[in-house]
Amino acid sequence: MNAFDYHQAADGTQAIEQAVRCQQAKYLGGGTNLVDLMRETVERPQTLIDVTRLSRDITDIDGGGLIIGAAVTNAALAGDARVRSRYPLLARAILSGASAQIRNMATVGGNLLQRTRCAYFYDTATRCNKREPGAGCDALEGFHRYHAIFGTSSSCSATHPSDMAVALVALDARVHLRGPAGDRQLAITELHREPGERPDLETELQPEELIVAVELPPLAMAARSQYRKVRDRASYAFALVSVASMVELDGETIQDVRLALGGVGTKPWRASRAEAVLRGQPATAATIAAAVDAELAAARPLPGNAFKVELARRTLIAELSQCLSDARDGGDA
Ligand SMILES: Cc1cc2nc3c(=O)[nH]c(=O)nc-3n(C[C@H](O)[C@H](O)[C@H](O)COP(=O)(O)OP(=O)(O)OC[C@H]3O[C@@H](n4cnc5c(N)ncnc54)[C@H](O)[C@@H]3O)c2cc1C
Ligand code: SF4
Repeated sequence: MNAFDYHQAADGTQAIEQAVRCQQAKYLGGGTNLVDLMRETVERPQTLIDVTRLSRDITDIDGGGLIIGAAVTNAALAGDARVRSRYPLLARAILSGASAQIRNMATVGGNLLQRTRCAYFYDTATRCNKREPGAGCDALEGFHRYHAIFGTSSSCSATHPSDMAVALVALDARVHLRGPAGDRQLAITELHREPGERPDLETELQPEELIVAVELPPLAMAARSQYRKVRDRASYAFALVSVASMVELDGETIQDVRLALGGVGTKPWRASRAEAVLRGQPATAATIAAAVDAELAAARPLPGNAFKVELARRTLIAELSQCLSDARDGGDA
């Protein structure tokens, strides 16, 4: 690990001022990802600006939505009674990730911006376009069992690892940003980038821009939302495939639906093709099968992760069938 300076920011504005003043600064949330990367010398910031004094509040907004401060811990968010009743998929997604100790440290801002778990990215003796643009990608012909089948390029096929982000993408959350040029908001679906030719550019954040909050819009059907995660071990493992879902029925017609996938995309993957096939159609097994086919038609697996296509198909079918059944019952998920 290289030597670095440390500053604690009192608030977002001070954090940005410090970042603008310092050379090669990085914001520090819980440090559960960034510090690991610094130990491996993948990240070498000269200054760390601790942003854990940003808001830790979860605040009600009109209509039943919530604003979540960027420094709220994953544990506090998953344990909030309003989150558990209005957005249960978010609580489930968070609790399916990492360990209790890590969730106690990890923050909302840091979770969204955690970096991929591709083993080559962490190993500085290997070639990785994300770590070193233009170097090549050793995962292509190496070990890529955990890699993405959606949004890939010949430069990079690493998955985005966050479970929480998948739930937030399904909820159409908005990210509140603050930077040297002022405040702005971004749909969370626009926050992360596909790798294309530049896998090192992972988000739409501008230099020194800071996540200050995440906004959950009110959404009645989210009270029956689900998160299902398939992985190699029952705990402490990243997703092979995960599905965040919710459905609103009008009789036996699918009035509205939200679907997002984890473990399969280079960014948290909104399954828009499947949603388009489902909306306005009868709530039948045939409709589900057509929707899943439409989404998976865009999959571009590598030899070592082709199994994810079938795994995603089965997980999506199981999850959507459960969602429809819960929507018919009208009860809690
Ligand atoms: C063993 C292990 C298992 C794990 N399993 C899972 C899992 O199954 N599912 C899952 O989703 N995650 C998992 N994680 C990852 C964990 O959830 C993340 O490490 C954590 O959420 C990151 O949050 P943090 O606050 O510690 O971020 P940090 O490590 O502090 O920061 C991460 C990045 O975000 C930036 N950053 C932090 N806050 C802000 C902000 N407010 N604005 C702008 N930039 C900011 C930092 O500069 C850094 O680049 C696992 C981690 C470990 C170590
Ligand atoms: S898949 Fe992406 S992160 Fe992994 S080695 Fe290739 S370029 Fe690097």
